Amino acid sequence: MGSATAYFLAASGKSGNITVIEPDPTYARASTPAGAGGVRRLMSRPENIRMSQYSLDFYAGFHDVMALEATPAEIQFRRQGYLFLTNAEGVDALTTNFKTQQDEGVPADLLDVEALRGRFPSVGTDGVALACHSPEDGWIDPHGALMGFRKKAISLGVSFVKDRVVGLETTRTSVSHAMLESGGKVEGNIFINTAGPWVGEIAAMTGAKLPVVPMCRVQHFWRCAHEIEPLPLIKDDSGAFFRPEGDGFAGGRPSFEIEPGFNWDVDRGYFANYFEETVWPLLANMVPKFETIKLESTWAGHYAQNLFDGNMIIGAYSKGLDNLLTACGFSGHGIMHAPAVGRALSELAMYGQFKTLDLSRMGFERVLEEKPYAETGIK
Ligand SMILES: Cc1cc2nc3c(=O)[nH]c(=O)nc-3n(C[C@H](O)[C@H](O)[C@H](O)COP(=O)(O)OP(=O)(O)OC[C@H]3O[C@@H](n4cnc5c(N)ncnc54)[C@H](O)[C@@H]3O)c2cc1C
Repeated sequence: MGSATAYFLAASGKSGNITVIEPDPTYARASTPAGAGGVRRLMSRPENIRMSQYSLDFYAGFHDVMALEATPAEIQFRRQGYLFLTNAEGVDALTTNFKTQQDEGVPADLLDVEALRGRFPSVGTDGVALACHSPEDGWIDPHGALMGFRKKAISLGVSFVKDRVVGLETTRTSVSHAMLESGGKVEGNIFINTAGPWVGEIAAMTGAKLPVVPMCRVQHFWRCAHEIEPLPLIKDDSGAFFRPEGDGFAGGRPSFEIEPGFNWDVDRGYFANYFEETVWPLLANMVPKFETIKLESTWAGHYAQNLFDGNMIIGAYSKGLDNLLTACGFSGHGIMHAPAVGRALSELAMYGQFKTLDLSRMGFERVLEEKPYAETGIK
């Protein structure tokens, strides 16, 4: 989000000096490289569908638009589709969302069990009542996208400073400086908190409280010796999902039961037998050939989970401090929305309002007014 926003600000040519403060330029613990990179329009809220639509178009041209001289920006964009599977309980929600998606012009189809078997013979139909397939959605390499935004932003004059924000200096009506761990400070007109799962730490620096917490999400990579036709990214209503990755598969199942907080230990405690006992049976139900697989790696990342309604929060959030913005709480949607959000934040920073896509329903006001605007699609 930070790098995408810096890129859109710099590319506008109207933004003045831009500095990105990032403590870890390797992004070893950032959410972005840990993510699956799925980009879908199978969502329930028009804003989310429109953001994904913009991002899909943007990612389709990323290779060239973000190229540096003759070096293309590689994000391995694969338009191999998305497939949601639901049981009888989820049919109404899937159908309602499908109507919204149709109204938004998303090319998708509802598949009954027979059509599903015909289209994807390897997909198990046990417990499945209905499926929704959007063949033109897909996935990208999130690390490639992050590097593309960062490098392009630098080429357009953005400064990336290796440091950590440890405080915000304020006047009565605005933030004036970001205080850095190194002892320095950065002056500015606008400050944007895009610290992902750490967003709450920076919010606390001005006494603000966002309903966004780090939530550990573990992912896995495995290979399967059986022949399997090219599959889309598949997700069912248990939350389990996977997609093809190279000559294997990557995916997992969000651990809904754990407490919020950072957790990097994927071998002990709650996660000790998580794959074998929880994830694998769900995967094998989705694709019976996954009964025989070789698990090759497991890693942890963190959702910035919005406990209020699971949707993003964008705009000002700290009472009386209008020049302090955020975009946070993306839960599992941040990569698919990064281009649209980078553009939206650049508009808020430069014009004080959205210019292209109205995201005002996604502001912090809904939290204050206790009016949730949740995604009702699959988990
Ligand atoms: C397992 C998993 C699967 C996912 N799958 C998908 C998917 O398929 N599709 C999708 O769209 N999304 C997916 N997501 C969600 C997506 O990865 C995130 O929503 C997105 O990467 C968030 O980006 P961000 O820039 O907000 O946060 P991050 O990438 O976490 O970046 C935040 C940055 O803030 C920095 N920071 C922290 N503290 C400070 C400080 N004090 N000062 C300055 N900087 C600081 C950090 O170092 C970090 O680099 C997935 C996430 C996970 C964990």
